[in-house]
Amino acid sequence: MTLDHLPSHLRRTRGCGEFRPEHAGTPAVVMGWIGRRRDLGSLIFFDLRDRAGILQVVFNRETVPEPHARAEELRSEYVVAIEGELVRRDAETVNKGIPTGEVELRANQLYILNDARTPPFPVEDNINTAEETRLERRYLDLRRPEMQSNLILRHQVALEIRRYMNERGFLEIETPFLTRSTPEGARDYLVPSRVQPGSFYALPQSPQLFKQILMISGFDKYFQIVRCFRDEDLRADRQPEFTQLDVEMSFAQPEMVFELIEPLMRSVCDVANRHWEMEGTKREINPPVQPIRISEERFPRLTYEEAMSQYGSDKPDLRYPEKIVSLDSMVSDALAEEFGIRAPMVGFKFSQQHLRIKEPLSRTAIDRLVTTVSETAHNSLPELKALQAELGKPALFIDYCLVGGKKVLLRNEELTRTLQEQLGAKEKDVLFVGAIRGQTPLRDRYLPNKCFAILRSQLADLTKEYDPQRKAFLWVTDFPMFDYDEQEKRYVAMHHPFTSPQDASLDHLDTDPSAVKAKAYDLVLNGSEIGGGSIRIHRPDIQRRVFRALGMTEEQARQRFGFFLEALEYGTPPHGGVALGLDRIVAILAMESSIREVIAFPKTARAVDLMCEAPSPVSRAQLRELGLELKESE
Ligand code: ASP
Repeated sequence: MTLDHLPSHLRRTRGCGEFRPEHAGTPAVVMGWIGRRRDLGSLIFFDLRDRAGILQVVFNRETVPEPHARAEELRSEYVVAIEGELVRRDAETVNKGIPTGEVELRANQLYILNDARTPPFPVEDNINTAEETRLERRYLDLRRPEMQSNLILRHQVALEIRRYMNERGFLEIETPFLTRSTPEGARDYLVPSRVQPGSFYALPQSPQLFKQILMISGFDKYFQIVRCFRDEDLRADRQPEFTQLDVEMSFAQPEMVFELIEPLMRSVCDVANRHWEMEGTKREINPPVQPIRISEERFPRLTYEEAMSQYGSDKPDLRYPEKIVSLDSMVSDALAEEFGIRAPMVGFKFSQQHLRIKEPLSRTAIDRLVTTVSETAHNSLPELKALQAELGKPALFIDYCLVGGKKVLLRNEELTRTLQEQLGAKEKDVLFVGAIRGQTPLRDRYLPNKCFAILRSQLADLTKEYDPQRKAFLWVTDFPMFDYDEQEKRYVAMHHPFTSPQDASLDHLDTDPSAVKAKAYDLVLNGSEIGGGSIRIHRPDIQRRVFRALGMTEEQARQRFGFFLEALEYGTPPHGGVALGLDRIVAILAMESSIREVIAFPKTARAVDLMCEAPSPVSRAQLRELGLELKESE
């Protein structure tokens, strides 16, 4: 088959998906990829696809014998330019499913610009193809309308962020990728220096120190849509490089950050609503995407302690309303003795009215649920697992009863009545209590709450009551400053070491770090943490004390962050900020469960780019130039 050159005069009239009945009767030029084909002998029909959508093209042997003959050679994904006349379709051939379904292009000239190998999967929506195959041939995958829509949405969200931030006086300033290590709790990606063999740059885990230095430099409102790099252990929905909206402001209070971000979230949701409306005019979306609904009120705020005690999680999904309650005061010595448990004890209710299914949960179903919760909790909570090993049996104790039934919780009527009243439980609702077995003091007093967070989410899934378009945002505030790392036997920063302790807890910094609260906050959406930030330390003396609390000697602190400690000494304004995960936000707005669906060229869970096969070995010569040598693998 001979290929044609693209004639220099030829221009596309408009995108394939943009033709409408009002264009009928006009000449038109379209260019794109060949999709489905139907050969009826004297008539050949093709779907021609480009970014704007699909248009039906027809070649008629009677009227255009030569192009018709060549059209017989066309296969999927061939690239063509076609000249013809746009016409209305006959009433009986109208396709209501696509926006160009009332028209078609009657071809009279065909230019075959390129052929194509047979794609390993159909270039269309709703395919059932292994993700690896899609990632290996990402260029084909990205041609699919769903993927085009995701990347268009991503572009629009980024555009809106820039417009919004600019309008509020924020400047976008770039910060380096080749830099020193900034700790965000992950491993660094290192880049060897050729000029200084033996020295390495680190790719930034975030621009944290640079944005703080920009505050010292007087750029009082900064933002950046920026790539961050973290060499983390494999987790399902993480990417080694990801994109963040990074924000910092001088003289900031947490409320000022919230007041900046809340309207921004509303406006990106509006962008998504407009996007889906537009997509609906391009292709058939089944079921149609309903507009996102966010309450007009300000986002709820929960302190870390409230979130942990009421939801057992610092990123609760507030679409499901039920809360965990504390029953500590109900744990009498007798009860503790009888069941081998102790406070803290928690309670939870499952309202049968939530159920869409007609039948209330059977005993077997509840027993199965309790087993799943217990197994998941023992597998995912290390402290519970350790207690299990110590006791030689499950460390989590769960009991339940049906309101109005014969059985009561822990054979204790008073406990059952109290819990029922506290939770406003009705007839047939299921009441649960949970506690930890054994007498070993708990390091984590929220351990039973964390177990019940698993129960809560299982029950939420069961109700299927989530309105997919409801976006439940909230701020979680007042985090503890430090976490204790059992392995390293030292305190580690819960956010990062530049987070300011709360003024009231400063005194504990040197004596009891576990009691120090931070001016830190997270933004949570439907159970995912989509952002986090803090008010920062702006005084060098406090920064030194925090480094000390983290177990860093003066010398180590100077070595790692000397430049920063010095910068703090030159008149640093109080400042604070936040960073939001752009990939996750776009994924939620695109109704995708994985961030890989909204990243053009993502990596697998093993941090591999399957298309270009990165990472890959390099030549000895390259290594030599860098002063590096590989150890022979054993
Ligand atoms: N640098 C932090 C992060 O990347 C965000 C912040 O504190 O602004 O998570």
